[in-house]
Amino acid sequence: MLSSQSVSRRTALKTLGAGAALAGLGTLPVGAAPAATATLPPFVLPKLDYAYDALEPHFDARTMEIHHGKHHQAYITNANNALKDQPALAAQSAEAMVRNLAALPAAVRAVLRNNVGGHLNHAHFWQIIGPRAGGAPKGPVADALNVAFGSFDAFKAEFAKAASGRFGSGWAWLYVGADQKLAIGSTANQDSPLMGKTVAGIQGIPVLGLDVWEHAYYLKYQNRRADFIAAFWQVVNWDRVNALYTAAR
Ligand code: MN
Repeated sequence: MLSSQSVSRRTALKTLGAGAALAGLGTLPVGAAPAATATLPPFVLPKLDYAYDALEPHFDARTMEIHHGKHHQAYITNANNALKDQPALAAQSAEAMVRNLAALPAAVRAVLRNNVGGHLNHAHFWQIIGPRAGGAPKGPVADALNVAFGSFDAFKAEFAKAASGRFGSGWAWLYVGADQKLAIGSTANQDSPLMGKTVAGIQGIPVLGLDVWEHAYYLKYQNRRADFIAAFWQVVNWDRVNALYTAAR
């Protein structure tokens, strides 16, 4: 089980470490193991370890700039504003909050679900994409994809189906489920597999998330979400996905 109650301390620490790399605590070399530090409020916008135009022509610079500097920043600002009057949550990491939303005060639960969720999801997203990336994965995640889905191409097809099938705004995920196996699913809005089955519909530790909100692709791809999903495969940082996969298990 991966609920916040039963998750092992070792796994929890590893997961917090994976999250910490996201939260602006310094940039890590591509593929480096995540640092073992939790991310506490107030949250800060993580720096990208590549330029806004580094993912051209697949992800355009203007979309990256707005997506990171405006959309992600807004989730952080909203989360920090909601947390200002919640001193009891000052020592709680972003990961801990989304893992146990039910424990949060009802007055801020929804705003934190959306905005701490949005912060974590975007911090994840920036690190699993990058320049000089894409192509087929190597290492443990490549083996695990073959086991779980039969082949890399079959995995890509199933992931694309989840991403294109998510109606409205949300995310497609490759995640490590409670059975330690890779699975594919999608969530609405800024929900995450970390939030658990009851909240998000799926439960596990994300290793590859794709933002399918229109703000992620509309400037370049307009209504063509399928083209955006195809472009995503050109920028996936499989070294980082391998690090997250290894940490998740
Ligand atoms: Mn987004």
